[in-house]
Amino acid sequence: MDRQQEFVLRTLEERDIRFVRLWFTDVLGFLKSVAIAPAELEGAFNEGIGFDGSAIEGFARVYESDMVAKPDPTTFQVLPWETLEGGHYSARMFCDLAMPDGSPSWADPRHVLRRQLSRIAEAGFTCYVHPEIEFFLLSSMPEDGSPPEPADNGGYFDQASHARATHFRRHAIETLEAMGISVEFSHHEGAPGQQEIDLRYADAMSMADNVMTFRYVVKEVALTQNVCATFMPKPFTDQPGSGMHTHVSLFEGDQNAFYDPEDPDELSPTGKAFVAGLLTHAREISAVTNQWVNSYKRLGGGGEAPPAVSWGRANRSALVRVPMYSPGKASSRRVEIRSLDSACNPYLAYSVILAAGLKGVTEGYELPPAAEDDIWALSDAERKAAGYVELPQNLGEALGEMERSELLPEALGEHVYDFFLRNKRVEWDSYRREVTPYELRTLLPVV
Ligand code: GLN
Ligand code: MG
Ligand code: MG
Ligand code: MG
Repeated sequence: MDRQQEFVLRTLEERDIRFVRLWFTDVLGFLKSVAIAPAELEGAFNEGIGFDGSAIEGFARVYESDMVAKPDPTTFQVLPWETLEGGHYSARMFCDLAMPDGSPSWADPRHVLRRQLSRIAEAGFTCYVHPEIEFFLLSSMPEDGSPPEPADNGGYFDQASHARATHFRRHAIETLEAMGISVEFSHHEGAPGQQEIDLRYADAMSMADNVMTFRYVVKEVALTQNVCATFMPKPFTDQPGSGMHTHVSLFEGDQNAFYDPEDPDELSPTGKAFVAGLLTHAREISAVTNQWVNSYKRLGGGGEAPPAVSWGRANRSALVRVPMYSPGKASSRRVEIRSLDSACNPYLAYSVILAAGLKGVTEGYELPPAAEDDIWALSDAERKAAGYVELPQNLGEALGEMERSELLPEALGEHVYDFFLRNKRVEWDSYRREVTPYELRTLLPVV
């Protein structure tokens, strides 16, 4: 048993913890959990816990049903809000998934990301990520398709008179901090009920784990405040959607490989090639960074979501931005990818972003000139004339791009790639066939 594992067992005993939740993530990005008693943990470290993989989305059809979850002791955290009777707490650990013969499971999103990170390491880099996570607080969670109601009437950066949101954010942040997830800042976002919490940077694997934890914590804390949280990309037709802007930097040793003080954007040739990779492959990776039918209502709906493949500096209509908050500060040179929404699978989304950027670096892609236009203000014809390539307009188009991609099967592994396409085709087809309230409202009475 290694020292991390010993630390976990000792902590369980010292804090008299009665339940350990073993967490993992399915291919669509939903958190799964199996609770075990502390006495079982030593065995779980050694052999893993067997479970029926066929019951989990994305694992079933591509694999034999027997799978094994092995807890990763470096992710051990006590769940600070979950007090059971007698003041006992529970704890959680993320798991790596394996086949019964001990080989890693190709259906495990953590494994997909780990493999991509080893490619980044082979190229000589380490990768840091920080997300700005937007979401809505609703007064209740309708499940019958009726429109939701925001939990407050606040707007961008509002402080006063929305006590509910402020209390909620304070509780959520305290809980996250207690779990070792540092919050950089938080504020009310543009739409009623909309919140944003930005996490302090971490390595990509820890951050993907953190995003999964974040969603769970935010939903739990919301319930304690009598509101409901949703990460749906676009719950309101006439309000902005919820993005998850993602800031990425590559380091070589302790040097930021994206920083060049001589360049007007302080962006090195490596940084430029990385951005060029993101732009070149933007349409192919879209189905993963924006994986739901609803994701494309956000991208196509204004509200500072990026409509086209472009990069810029202060330009908030651009897909990739090179923010200049702290000029001359090498460690903070990074690029911000603005397409991701808050309902993506963070492991898979980070995998495809890094695959696209790294391809730009290893193949030496050229960066096109920055977009100076407010792309939202241009007509379709003007966008075309200016040479902007649109992001996919809907999930069907994004899947078509993914099907034609050579990068994606390599980045995701054939199993996740095939499952994802099959699953998402079903989603798109069932949406496409549905006669919507929009058609009934606008057409039925007039024809
Ligand atoms: N909500 C916007 C989006 O969907 C972003 C708004 C902002 O943070 N500037 O991307
Ligand atoms: Mg922000
Ligand atoms: Mg924001
Ligand atoms: Mg941002």
